[in-house]
Amino acid sequence: MTDAAVGDEAVLPALVPDVPVALTKLVRRILCGNPSKMTGPGTNTYLIGIDEVAVIDPGPDDADHLDAIAAAGSGQIRWILCTHTHPDHSPGAAGLKARTGAEVLAFADTDGLVCDRHLVDGDTVEGTEFTLRAVHTPGHASNHLCFLLERDRLLFTGDHVMDASTVVISPPDGDMAQYLASIERLQAWTPRLKVLAPAHGHLIDDPAAKLAEYHAHRLAREAQVLTVLAGHGAAGAGTAALVEEIYAEVAEELHPVARKSVWAHLRKLAHEGSVTASDVEDPEATWVAR
Ligand SMILES: [Zn+2]
Repeated sequence: MTDAAVGDEAVLPALVPDVPVALTKLVRRILCGNPSKMTGPGTNTYLIGIDEVAVIDPGPDDADHLDAIAAAGSGQIRWILCTHTHPDHSPGAAGLKARTGAEVLAFADTDGLVCDRHLVDGDTVEGTEFTLRAVHTPGHASNHLCFLLERDRLLFTGDHVMDASTVVISPPDGDMAQYLASIERLQAWTPRLKVLAPAHGHLIDDPAAKLAEYHAHRLAREAQVLTVLAGHGAAGAGTAALVEEIYAEVAEELHPVARKSVWAHLRKLAHEGSVTASDVEDPEATWVAR
């Protein structure tokens, strides 16, 4: 039924930009041609439904991509949903609305997005063939929503959970404590989730394993941050020095992103009383383990 369910990377549908791929009876994916270090193969746009179509994450304002979405929608696109307002997810909403007349729905009007209607946790979009339920999952972005396709127990995860790349938590809008709480919420979801459809990469057909891996990875990193910081004693250290030690094996071009992640961990640890800084809002602050 799903591409990840096949369990063999060699036979997964190829990730080719602007060519619709049917993933289930109701779900199609159109990859945007915006590959990068941060977006992996590019942004996945999902189309849900046939008679009435909901689009999740139109992507950047890319004319070829928006044309491909509109063409695949065959005049049936009624809703444009954005998981969050980062530049690779929502700027295409206006152009797709202009092409289709569809309603734009998201958590908030931020980063230039203009919504026709705001969605909060638990709100639904009811198509003739499906119900999509908004699940507020702050952490990667404060306005992040996942969307649950109830009939398939398939969750569109946006940037909350990705396939094969790490989710960036960039304070102050990104929040590590909220992120972990949002992961835990999905772990406890009943009935249990069957498939995750991320905004970057292939479908994930073992949600429990992926969520457990994400959770464990973050806690391991957090413990490492605390241990390395403790090694600096009363003098403490800044995020740059910590990243030099913790991410020694990682390409230096990724260190700026790693610093944000370390900062996010430190803010959570400060809130919990394990570390201190003169100003937790200052990315250049010196941190001391307690
Ligand atoms: Zn994002």
